[in-house]
Amino acid sequence: MNIEIKYTQIFINNEWHKADNGKTFSVINPSTGEEICQVEEASEVDVNKAVEVARKAFNINSPWRKLEPATRGSLIRKFASLLRRDIDYLSKLETLNNGKPLEESRGDINLSADCMDYYAGWVDKITGETIPSGHDSFIYTRHEPIGICGQIIPWNYPIMMLAWKLGPALACGNVIILKPAEQTPLTALYCAALIKEAGFPPGVVNILPGDGPICGNAIATHKHIDKIAFTGSVETGKKIQIAAAQSNLKRVSLELGGKSPLIICEDADLDFAVNLAHRAIFTNAAQNCTAGSRTFVHTKLYDAFIARSIELTKKRIVGNPFDANTKQGPQINDSQFKKILNYIELGKKDGAKLEYGGERVGDKGYFIQPTIFSDVQDHMKIAREEIFGPVMSILKFDSYDEVIERANDTCFGLGAGVITKDLTRSLTFAQQLQAGSVWINDYDVVCNQAPFGGYKQSGHGRELGRYGLEEYYEVKTVVIKLI
Ligand code: NAD
Repeated sequence: MNIEIKYTQIFINNEWHKADNGKTFSVINPSTGEEICQVEEASEVDVNKAVEVARKAFNINSPWRKLEPATRGSLIRKFASLLRRDIDYLSKLETLNNGKPLEESRGDINLSADCMDYYAGWVDKITGETIPSGHDSFIYTRHEPIGICGQIIPWNYPIMMLAWKLGPALACGNVIILKPAEQTPLTALYCAALIKEAGFPPGVVNILPGDGPICGNAIATHKHIDKIAFTGSVETGKKIQIAAAQSNLKRVSLELGGKSPLIICEDADLDFAVNLAHRAIFTNAAQNCTAGSRTFVHTKLYDAFIARSIELTKKRIVGNPFDANTKQGPQINDSQFKKILNYIELGKKDGAKLEYGGERVGDKGYFIQPTIFSDVQDHMKIAREEIFGPVMSILKFDSYDEVIERANDTCFGLGAGVITKDLTRSLTFAQQLQAGSVWINDYDVVCNQAPFGGYKQSGHGRELGRYGLEEYYEVKTVVIKLI
Protein backbone atom coordinates (compact mmCIF):
# COMPACT_ATOMS: atom_id res chain seq x y z
CA MET A 1 0.00 0.00 0.00
CA ASN A 2 1.49 3.30 -1.09
CA ILE A 3 0.64 5.97 1.47
CA GLU A 4 2.15 9.43 1.38
CA ILE A 5 3.82 10.40 4.68
CA LYS A 6 3.20 14.11 5.07
CA TYR A 7 4.63 14.98 8.49
CA THR A 8 7.80 13.71 10.13
CA GLN A 9 8.97 16.68 12.21
CA ILE A 10 8.47 18.01 15.72
CA PHE A 11 5.37 20.19 16.22
CA ILE A 12 6.00 23.13 18.55
CA ASN A 13 4.10 26.44 18.57
CA ASN A 14 2.07 25.41 15.48
CA GLU A 15 5.30 25.08 13.47
CA TRP A 16 7.35 22.14 12.24
CA HIS A 17 10.90 21.81 13.60
CA LYS A 18 13.90 19.58 13.10
CA ALA A 19 15.38 18.00 16.22
CA ASP A 20 17.81 20.33 17.97
CA ASN A 21 20.55 17.69 17.92
CA GLY A 22 19.84 16.62 14.34
CA LYS A 23 18.77 13.10 15.34
CA THR A 24 16.07 11.09 13.63
CA PHE A 25 14.67 7.62 14.29
CA SER A 26 13.27 4.87 12.13
CA VAL A 27 9.54 4.10 12.00
CA ILE A 28 8.84 0.49 11.06
CA ASN A 29 5.90 -1.15 9.27
CA PRO A 30 5.08 -4.11 11.56
CA SER A 31 3.55 -6.07 8.67
CA THR A 32 6.91 -6.22 6.88
CA GLY A 33 9.59 -5.21 9.39
CA GLU A 34 10.72 -2.57 6.88
CA GLU A 35 11.25 1.13 7.45
CA ILE A 36 8.38 3.49 6.56
CA CYS A 37 10.32 6.72 7.14
CA GLN A 38 12.63 8.59 9.48
CA VAL A 39 11.09 10.94 12.05
CA GLU A 40 12.80 13.77 13.95
CA GLU A 41 13.68 12.68 17.47
CA ALA A 42 12.93 15.25 20.17
CA SER A 43 15.48 15.60 22.97
CA GLU A 44 15.46 17.45 26.28
CA VAL A 45 16.31 20.69 24.48
CA ASP A 46 13.22 20.34 22.29
CA VAL A 47 11.09 19.62 25.37
CA ASN A 48 12.43 22.83 26.94
CA LYS A 49 11.44 24.77 23.82
CA ALA A 50 7.95 23.30 23.95
CA VAL A 51 7.63 24.24 27.63
CA GLU A 52 8.62 27.84 26.82
CA VAL A 53 5.91 28.27 24.19
CA ALA A 54 3.35 26.37 26.25
CA ARG A 55 3.96 28.76 29.15
CA LYS A 56 3.28 31.71 26.87
CA ALA A 57 0.15 30.04 25.56
CA PHE A 58 -1.02 29.56 29.15
CA ASN A 59 -0.29 33.12 30.24
CA ILE A 60 -3.37 34.59 31.90
CA ASN A 61 -3.75 37.16 29.11
CA SER A 62 -3.02 34.81 26.23
CA PRO A 63 -5.52 34.34 23.38
CA TRP A 64 -6.18 30.77 24.65
CA ARG A 65 -6.93 31.84 28.22
CA LYS A 66 -9.18 34.66 27.06
CA LEU A 67 -11.34 32.51 24.78
CA GLU A 68 -15.01 32.25 25.66
CA PRO A 69 -15.79 28.67 26.76
CA ALA A 70 -18.12 28.20 23.79
CA THR A 71 -15.33 29.19 21.38
CA ARG A 72 -12.96 26.73 23.03
CA GLY A 73 -15.62 24.08 22.53
CA SER A 74 -15.95 25.03 18.85
CA LEU A 75 -12.22 24.53 18.30
CA ILE A 76 -12.37 21.03 19.82
CA ARG A 77 -15.45 20.23 17.71
CA LYS A 78 -13.68 21.51 14.60
CA PHE A 79 -10.77 19.16 15.30
CA ALA A 80 -13.29 16.28 15.58
CA SER A 81 -14.80 17.21 12.23
CA LEU A 82 -11.34 17.27 10.60
CA LEU A 83 -10.65 13.76 11.95
CA ARG A 84 -13.87 12.62 10.25
CA ARG A 85 -13.07 14.51 7.01
CA ASP A 86 -9.69 12.76 6.73
CA ILE A 87 -10.75 9.35 8.02
CA ASP A 88 -9.81 7.51 4.80
CA TYR A 89 -6.25 8.77 4.86
CA LEU A 90 -5.84 8.60 8.64
CA SER A 91 -7.09 5.02 8.90
CA LYS A 92 -4.66 3.87 6.20
CA LEU A 93 -1.82 5.67 7.98
CA GLU A 94 -2.78 4.07 11.30
CA THR A 95 -2.94 0.60 9.74
CA LEU A 96 0.40 1.09 7.98
CA ASN A 97 2.14 2.17 11.18
CA ASN A 98 0.35 0.05 13.80
CA GLY A 99 -0.74 -3.00 11.79
CA LYS A 100 -4.34 -3.18 12.98
CA PRO A 101 -6.97 -4.15 10.38
CA LEU A 102 -8.19 -1.16 8.37
CA GLU A 103 -11.78 -1.45 9.65
CA GLU A 104 -10.49 -1.28 13.23
CA SER A 105 -8.47 1.84 12.44
CA ARG A 106 -11.63 3.44 11.04
CA GLY A 107 -13.49 2.45 14.19
CA ASP A 108 -10.77 3.97 16.39
CA ILE A 109 -10.85 7.25 14.45
CA ASN A 110 -14.63 7.51 14.66
CA LEU A 111 -14.43 6.90 18.41
CA SER A 112 -11.66 9.49 18.69
CA ALA A 113 -13.76 12.11 16.91
CA ASP A 114 -16.71 11.20 19.16
CA CYS A 115 -14.45 11.60 22.20
CA MET A 116 -13.44 15.11 21.11
CA ASP A 117 -17.10 16.01 20.52
CA TYR A 118 -18.03 14.61 23.92
CA TYR A 119 -15.47 16.82 25.68
CA ALA A 120 -16.33 19.83 23.51
CA GLY A 121 -19.77 19.56 25.07
CA TRP A 122 -18.31 19.85 28.56
CA VAL A 123 -16.39 23.09 28.04
CA ASP A 124 -19.15 25.40 29.30
CA LYS A 125 -20.41 22.98 31.97
CA ILE A 126 -17.30 22.64 34.14
CA THR A 127 -18.75 24.48 37.10
CA GLY A 128 -17.72 24.91 40.71
CA GLU A 129 -20.09 25.04 43.68
CA THR A 130 -21.41 27.52 46.17
CA ILE A 131 -20.67 26.24 49.66
CA PRO A 132 -22.87 26.81 52.72
CA SER A 133 -21.20 29.22 55.13
CA GLY A 134 -22.00 31.74 57.91
CA HIS A 135 -24.40 34.64 57.33
CA ASP A 136 -21.53 37.10 56.75
CA SER A 137 -19.46 35.16 54.24
CA PHE A 138 -19.77 33.67 50.80
CA ILE A 139 -17.76 30.65 49.66
CA TYR A 140 -17.53 29.24 46.20
CA THR A 141 -15.21 27.02 44.18
CA ARG A 142 -13.72 27.49 40.74
CA HIS A 143 -12.42 24.68 38.57
CA GLU A 144 -9.29 26.04 36.94
CA PRO A 145 -6.96 24.44 34.37
CA ILE A 146 -3.81 22.95 35.89
CA GLY A 147 -1.40 24.42 33.34
CA ILE A 148 1.09 22.56 31.16
CA CYS A 149 0.12 18.91 30.84
CA GLY A 150 2.65 16.35 29.67
CA GLN A 151 0.94 13.40 27.99
CA ILE A 152 2.79 10.20 27.09
CA ILE A 153 0.88 7.64 25.07
CA PRO A 154 1.42 4.05 23.86
CA TRP A 155 1.39 2.36 20.46
CA ASN A 156 -1.62 0.03 20.74
CA TYR A 157 -4.33 2.65 20.06
CA PRO A 158 -2.24 5.58 18.80
CA ILE A 159 -4.95 7.97 17.69
CA MET A 160 -7.52 6.98 20.30
CA MET A 161 -5.08 7.48 23.16
CA LEU A 162 -4.29 10.90 21.73
CA ALA A 163 -8.00 11.80 21.76
CA TRP A 164 -8.51 10.46 25.30
CA LYS A 165 -5.67 12.70 26.45
CA LEU A 166 -6.33 15.86 24.41
CA GLY A 167 -10.12 15.94 24.88
CA PRO A 168 -10.45 16.47 28.66
CA ALA A 169 -7.23 18.52 28.93
CA LEU A 170 -8.36 21.00 26.28
CA ALA A 171 -11.93 21.10 27.59
CA CYS A 172 -10.55 22.31 30.94
CA GLY A 173 -8.37 24.93 29.21
CA ASN A 174 -4.90 23.40 29.71
CA VAL A 175 -1.96 23.48 27.30
CA ILE A 176 -0.26 20.29 26.21
CA ILE A 177 3.04 18.63 25.38
CA LEU A 178 2.21 15.19 24.00
CA LYS A 179 4.69 12.45 23.16
CA PRO A 180 3.40 9.64 20.96
CA ALA A 181 5.03 6.21 21.23
CA GLU A 182 8.24 5.94 19.21
CA GLN A 183 6.73 2.97 17.34
CA THR A 184 3.66 4.91 16.15
CA PRO A 185 4.18 8.66 15.75
CA LEU A 186 2.65 9.09 12.28
CA THR A 187 -1.05 9.66 12.96
CA ALA A 188 -0.22 11.89 15.94
CA LEU A 189 1.88 14.11 13.67
CA TYR A 190 -0.91 14.30 11.12
CA CYS A 191 -3.26 15.27 13.97
CA ALA A 192 -0.85 18.08 14.83
CA ALA A 193 -1.51 19.54 11.37
CA LEU A 194 -5.26 19.23 12.02
CA ILE A 195 -4.88 21.03 15.37
CA LYS A 196 -3.33 23.95 13.51
CA GLU A 197 -5.98 23.84 10.80
CA ALA A 198 -8.74 23.78 13.43
CA GLY A 199 -7.44 27.14 14.67
CA PHE A 200 -5.92 26.40 18.09
CA PRO A 201 -3.56 29.23 19.06
CA PRO A 202 0.19 28.48 18.82
CA GLY A 203 1.67 26.64 21.80
CA VAL A 204 -1.61 25.13 23.04
CA VAL A 205 -0.89 21.66 21.63
CA ASN A 206 2.72 20.60 21.02
CA ILE A 207 3.50 17.12 19.70
CA LEU A 208 7.01 15.76 20.20
CA PRO A 209 7.93 12.38 18.73
CA GLY A 210 10.81 10.77 20.59
CA ASP A 211 12.19 8.03 22.74
CA GLY A 212 10.79 7.17 26.19
CA PRO A 213 13.93 7.38 28.32
CA ILE A 214 14.99 10.66 26.61
CA CYS A 215 12.02 12.76 25.50
CA GLY A 216 9.49 11.03 27.81
CA ASN A 217 11.81 11.31 30.78
CA ALA A 218 12.47 15.00 30.04
CA ILE A 219 8.70 15.58 30.21
CA ALA A 220 8.27 13.54 33.41
CA THR A 221 11.13 15.32 35.19
CA HIS A 222 10.49 18.85 33.94
CA LYS A 223 10.03 21.36 36.74
CA HIS A 224 7.61 23.54 34.77
CA ILE A 225 5.28 20.84 33.58
CA ASP A 226 2.38 20.80 36.01
CA LYS A 227 0.76 17.46 35.31
CA ILE A 228 1.61 14.21 33.58
CA ALA A 229 -0.83 11.69 32.13
CA PHE A 230 0.55 8.35 31.01
CA THR A 231 -0.73 5.16 29.41
CA GLY A 232 1.60 2.19 29.06
CA SER A 233 3.44 -0.41 31.10
CA VAL A 234 3.48 -0.65 34.90
CA GLU A 235 7.27 -0.46 34.86
CA THR A 236 7.32 2.88 33.03
CA GLY A 237 4.34 4.13 35.07
CA LYS A 238 6.36 3.66 38.25
CA LYS A 239 9.32 5.54 36.74
CA ILE A 240 7.01 8.40 35.84
CA GLN A 241 5.53 8.60 39.30
CA ILE A 242 9.03 8.69 40.82
CA ALA A 243 10.16 11.34 38.31
CA ALA A 244 7.09 13.44 39.12
CA ALA A 245 7.75 13.19 42.85
CA GLN A 246 11.44 13.97 42.55
CA SER A 247 11.02 16.97 40.24
CA ASN A 248 8.09 19.19 41.19
CA LEU A 249 5.38 16.84 42.51
CA LYS A 250 3.47 17.31 39.28
CA ARG A 251 0.02 15.72 39.28
CA VAL A 252 0.05 12.19 37.89
CA SER A 253 -2.59 10.03 36.28
CA LEU A 254 -1.69 6.54 35.10
CA GLU A 255 -3.46 3.96 32.96
CA LEU A 256 -1.33 0.82 33.06
CA GLY A 257 -1.60 -2.87 32.37
CA GLY A 258 -3.98 -5.65 33.27
CA LYS A 259 -4.51 -9.37 33.61
CA SER A 260 -8.25 -9.23 33.33
CA PRO A 261 -10.49 -12.22 34.15
CA LEU A 262 -13.50 -13.26 32.11
CA ILE A 263 -15.65 -15.68 34.12
CA ILE A 264 -17.96 -18.04 32.28
CA CYS A 265 -20.65 -19.44 34.58
CA GLU A 266 -22.40 -22.76 34.17
CA ASP A 267 -25.65 -21.18 32.94
CA ALA A 268 -23.91 -19.33 30.06
CA ASP A 269 -24.96 -20.05 26.49
CA LEU A 270 -21.94 -21.88 25.11
CA ASP A 271 -21.76 -20.25 21.65
CA PHE A 272 -22.25 -16.81 23.14
CA ALA A 273 -19.49 -17.43 25.69
CA VAL A 274 -17.05 -18.83 23.12
CA ASN A 275 -17.52 -15.83 20.83
CA LEU A 276 -17.25 -13.27 23.61
CA ALA A 277 -14.15 -14.85 25.15
CA HIS A 278 -12.53 -14.98 21.70
CA ARG A 279 -13.19 -11.29 21.12
CA ALA A 280 -12.15 -10.43 24.70
CA ILE A 281 -8.64 -11.75 24.21
CA PHE A 282 -7.85 -11.52 20.49
CA THR A 283 -9.11 -8.00 19.64
CA ASN A 284 -6.27 -5.74 18.44
CA ALA A 285 -3.96 -8.78 18.32
CA ALA A 286 -4.44 -8.82 22.11
CA GLN A 287 -2.41 -5.62 22.43
CA ASN A 288 -5.05 -4.33 24.73
CA CYS A 289 -4.72 -3.31 28.37
CA THR A 290 -8.17 -4.77 29.11
CA ALA A 291 -7.56 -8.01 27.18
CA GLY A 292 -9.51 -10.87 28.77
CA SER A 293 -6.33 -12.82 29.34
CA ARG A 294 -7.59 -15.18 32.05
CA THR A 295 -10.60 -17.13 30.84
CA PHE A 296 -12.19 -18.89 33.84
CA VAL A 297 -14.63 -21.59 32.69
CA HIS A 298 -17.01 -23.52 34.94
CA THR A 299 -16.21 -27.26 35.12
CA LYS A 300 -19.54 -28.17 33.52
CA LEU A 301 -18.75 -26.23 30.32
CA TYR A 302 -15.00 -26.67 30.34
CA ASP A 303 -14.41 -29.42 27.74
CA ALA A 304 -17.05 -28.19 25.31
CA PHE A 305 -15.79 -24.62 25.67
CA ILE A 306 -12.26 -25.65 24.70
CA ALA A 307 -13.40 -27.67 21.69
CA ARG A 308 -15.54 -24.82 20.31
CA SER A 309 -12.90 -22.19 21.03
CA ILE A 310 -10.37 -24.15 18.99
CA GLU A 311 -12.88 -24.45 16.12
CA LEU A 312 -13.50 -20.69 16.13
CA THR A 313 -9.86 -19.73 16.50
CA LYS A 314 -8.81 -21.92 13.55
CA LYS A 315 -11.00 -19.70 11.36
CA ARG A 316 -9.37 -16.44 12.52
CA ILE A 317 -7.57 -14.91 9.54
CA VAL A 318 -4.16 -13.50 10.39
CA GLY A 319 -2.31 -11.45 7.80
CA ASN A 320 -2.22 -8.28 5.72
CA PRO A 321 -4.22 -5.68 7.72
CA PHE A 322 -5.26 -3.95 4.50
CA ASP A 323 -7.11 -7.09 3.37
CA ALA A 324 -10.83 -6.81 4.24
CA ASN A 325 -10.99 -10.45 5.44
CA THR A 326 -8.16 -10.07 7.95
CA LYS A 327 -9.15 -10.24 11.59
CA GLN A 328 -5.66 -10.01 13.12
CA GLY A 329 -2.63 -8.04 12.00
CA PRO A 330 0.95 -8.21 13.27
CA GLN A 331 2.27 -7.49 16.75
CA ILE A 332 3.82 -4.05 16.98
CA ASN A 333 7.53 -4.85 16.80
CA ASP A 334 10.28 -7.39 17.05
CA SER A 335 10.70 -7.10 20.81
CA GLN A 336 6.98 -7.65 21.52
CA PHE A 337 6.96 -10.51 18.99
CA LYS A 338 9.86 -12.25 20.75
CA LYS A 339 8.44 -11.56 24.20
CA ILE A 340 5.12 -13.20 23.27
CA LEU A 341 6.76 -16.28 21.71
CA ASN A 342 8.81 -16.58 24.88
CA TYR A 343 5.62 -16.53 27.01
CA ILE A 344 4.22 -19.31 24.82
CA GLU A 345 7.35 -21.39 25.56
CA LEU A 346 6.98 -20.61 29.27
CA GLY A 347 3.35 -21.78 29.15
CA LYS A 348 4.43 -25.13 27.70
CA LYS A 349 7.30 -25.48 30.16
CA ASP A 350 5.07 -24.69 33.15
CA GLY A 351 2.76 -27.55 32.12
CA ALA A 352 -0.19 -25.78 30.47
CA LYS A 353 -1.68 -27.70 27.52
CA LEU A 354 -1.15 -26.01 24.14
CA GLU A 355 -4.46 -26.63 22.37
CA TYR A 356 -3.91 -24.49 19.28
CA GLY A 357 -1.41 -22.10 17.68
CA GLY A 358 1.83 -21.07 19.31
CA GLU A 359 3.74 -20.35 16.09
CA ARG A 360 4.79 -17.44 13.98
CA VAL A 361 2.70 -16.80 10.83
CA GLY A 362 4.66 -16.23 7.58
CA ASP A 363 8.32 -15.31 7.41
CA LYS A 364 8.24 -11.52 7.54
CA GLY A 365 6.60 -9.01 9.83
CA TYR A 366 5.51 -9.85 13.37
CA PHE A 367 2.50 -12.13 12.95
CA ILE A 368 1.64 -14.73 15.60
CA GLN A 369 -1.06 -17.40 15.50
CA PRO A 370 -3.93 -16.90 17.91
CA THR A 371 -2.99 -19.36 20.62
CA ILE A 372 -5.01 -21.34 23.17
CA PHE A 373 -3.72 -22.93 26.38
CA SER A 374 -5.93 -25.05 28.63
CA ASP A 375 -5.19 -26.50 32.08
CA VAL A 376 -3.64 -23.18 33.05
CA GLN A 377 -2.96 -22.89 36.79
CA ASP A 378 -3.07 -19.65 38.78
CA HIS A 379 0.63 -19.69 39.64
CA MET A 380 1.88 -19.99 36.03
CA LYS A 381 3.56 -16.97 34.46
CA ILE A 382 1.03 -16.94 31.59
CA ALA A 383 -1.72 -16.54 34.21
CA ARG A 384 0.05 -13.85 36.21
CA GLU A 385 1.92 -11.55 33.82
CA GLU A 386 0.66 -9.30 31.06
CA ILE A 387 1.58 -10.97 27.75
CA PHE A 388 0.08 -8.32 25.46
CA GLY A 389 -0.18 -10.94 22.74
CA PRO A 390 -2.75 -13.39 21.29
CA VAL A 391 -2.63 -16.05 24.00
CA MET A 392 -5.86 -17.31 25.56
CA SER A 393 -5.29 -18.94 28.96
CA ILE A 394 -8.18 -21.16 30.05
CA LEU A 395 -8.58 -21.93 33.75
CA LYS A 396 -11.17 -24.27 35.29
CA PHE A 397 -13.32 -23.43 38.32
CA ASP A 398 -16.00 -25.13 40.46
CA SER A 399 -17.37 -22.67 42.97
CA TYR A 400 -18.24 -18.99 42.69
CA ASP A 401 -16.61 -17.95 45.97
CA GLU A 402 -13.42 -19.63 44.81
CA VAL A 403 -13.39 -17.98 41.38
CA ILE A 404 -13.94 -14.49 42.80
CA GLU A 405 -10.96 -14.98 45.08
CA ARG A 406 -8.81 -16.30 42.24
CA ALA A 407 -9.90 -13.55 39.85
CA ASN A 408 -8.91 -10.92 42.44
CA ASP A 409 -5.59 -12.58 43.22
CA THR A 410 -3.52 -10.32 40.94
CA CYS A 411 -1.63 -7.06 41.24
CA PHE A 412 -3.84 -5.64 38.47
CA GLY A 413 -7.46 -4.45 38.43
CA LEU A 414 -8.42 -2.90 35.12
CA GLY A 415 -11.33 -4.90 33.70
CA ALA A 416 -13.35 -8.03 34.48
CA GLY A 417 -16.15 -9.85 32.67
CA VAL A 418 -18.84 -12.29 33.74
CA ILE A 419 -21.18 -14.35 31.59
CA THR A 420 -24.31 -15.49 33.42
CA LYS A 421 -28.10 -15.27 33.18
CA ASP A 422 -28.48 -15.10 36.96
CA LEU A 423 -29.16 -11.54 38.13
CA THR A 424 -28.09 -12.07 41.74
CA ARG A 425 -24.89 -13.78 40.71
CA SER A 426 -24.03 -11.02 38.22
CA LEU A 427 -24.58 -8.32 40.85
CA THR A 428 -22.52 -10.25 43.38
CA PHE A 429 -19.65 -10.45 40.90
CA ALA A 430 -20.04 -6.76 40.05
CA GLN A 431 -19.69 -5.90 43.73
CA GLN A 432 -16.85 -8.25 44.60
CA LEU A 433 -14.53 -8.09 41.59
CA GLN A 434 -11.68 -5.62 42.13
CA ALA A 435 -11.61 -3.86 38.76
CA GLY A 436 -12.23 -0.40 37.36
CA SER A 437 -14.76 -1.80 34.87
CA VAL A 438 -16.96 -4.89 35.20
CA TRP A 439 -18.80 -6.08 32.11
CA ILE A 440 -21.73 -8.46 32.51
CA ASN A 441 -22.58 -10.50 29.40
CA ASP A 442 -20.30 -8.24 27.36
CA TYR A 443 -16.65 -7.35 27.31
CA ASP A 444 -14.43 -4.29 26.86
CA VAL A 445 -17.28 -1.89 26.32
CA VAL A 446 -15.58 1.47 26.62
CA CYS A 447 -17.67 4.54 25.91
CA ASN A 448 -16.71 8.19 26.03
CA GLN A 449 -19.26 9.09 28.72
CA ALA A 450 -18.30 6.34 31.21
CA PRO A 451 -15.12 6.43 33.33
CA PHE A 452 -12.28 4.03 32.59
CA GLY A 453 -9.27 3.18 34.75
CA GLY A 454 -7.77 0.73 37.16
CA TYR A 455 -7.62 -0.56 40.71
CA LYS A 456 -4.26 -1.57 42.21
CA GLN A 457 -1.28 -1.47 39.82
CA SER A 458 -3.50 -0.91 36.80
CA GLY A 459 -3.13 2.77 37.55
CA HIS A 460 -4.80 5.65 39.23
CA GLY A 461 -7.18 8.32 38.14
CA ARG A 462 -9.90 7.83 35.55
CA GLU A 463 -10.16 8.73 31.91
CA LEU A 464 -13.33 9.48 29.94
CA GLY A 465 -16.65 10.72 31.21
CA ARG A 466 -17.09 13.46 33.78
CA TYR A 467 -14.55 11.74 36.04
CA GLY A 468 -11.90 12.15 33.31
CA LEU A 469 -12.18 15.93 33.63
CA GLU A 470 -11.25 15.78 37.33
CA GLU A 471 -7.69 14.86 36.33
CA TYR A 472 -7.32 18.16 34.49
CA TYR A 473 -8.49 20.89 36.83
CA GLU A 474 -7.51 22.37 40.16
CA VAL A 475 -10.25 23.25 42.62
CA LYS A 476 -9.91 26.74 44.05
CA THR A 477 -11.91 27.80 47.11
CA VAL A 478 -12.80 31.48 47.27
CA VAL A 479 -13.97 32.89 50.60
CA ILE A 480 -15.49 36.37 50.72
CA LYS A 481 -16.24 38.15 53.97
CA LEU A 482 -19.39 40.26 53.59
CA ILE A 483 -18.33 43.45 55.37
P1 NAD B 1 6.16 1.57 27.68
O1 NAD B 1 5.32 1.75 28.86
O2 NAD B 1 7.63 1.57 27.90
O3 NAD B 1 5.85 2.72 26.59
C1 NAD B 1 4.70 3.53 26.60
C2 NAD B 1 5.11 4.99 26.41
O4 NAD B 1 5.99 5.38 27.46
C3 NAD B 1 5.86 5.26 25.11
O5 NAD B 1 5.46 6.52 24.61
C4 NAD B 1 7.30 5.32 25.57
O6 NAD B 1 8.13 6.08 24.72
C5 NAD B 1 7.17 5.97 26.92
N1 NAD B 1 8.30 5.73 27.84
C6 NAD B 1 9.10 4.63 27.93
N2 NAD B 1 10.02 4.80 28.90
C7 NAD B 1 9.82 6.02 29.44
C8 NAD B 1 10.43 6.76 30.49
N3 NAD B 1 11.47 6.28 31.17
N4 NAD B 1 9.94 7.98 30.80
C9 NAD B 1 8.88 8.48 30.14
N5 NAD B 1 8.25 7.83 29.12
C10 NAD B 1 8.71 6.62 28.77
O7 NAD B 1 5.70 0.26 26.93
P2 NAD B 1 6.46 -0.64 25.83
O8 NAD B 1 7.89 -0.87 26.22
O9 NAD B 1 6.23 -0.04 24.50
O10 NAD B 1 5.63 -1.99 25.96
C11 NAD B 1 5.96 -2.90 26.99
C12 NAD B 1 4.73 -3.46 27.67
O11 NAD B 1 3.93 -2.41 28.18
C13 NAD B 1 3.75 -4.23 26.79
O12 NAD B 1 4.15 -5.55 26.59
C14 NAD B 1 2.49 -4.14 27.58
O13 NAD B 1 2.49 -5.12 28.57
C15 NAD B 1 2.57 -2.78 28.21
N6 NAD B 1 1.79 -1.77 27.47
C16 NAD B 1 0.59 -1.41 27.98
C17 NAD B 1 -0.19 -0.50 27.31
C18 NAD B 1 -1.53 -0.09 27.84
O14 NAD B 1 -2.37 0.34 27.06
N7 NAD B 1 -1.76 -0.14 29.13
C19 NAD B 1 0.23 0.03 26.10
C20 NAD B 1 1.49 -0.32 25.61
C21 NAD B 1 2.25 -1.23 26.31
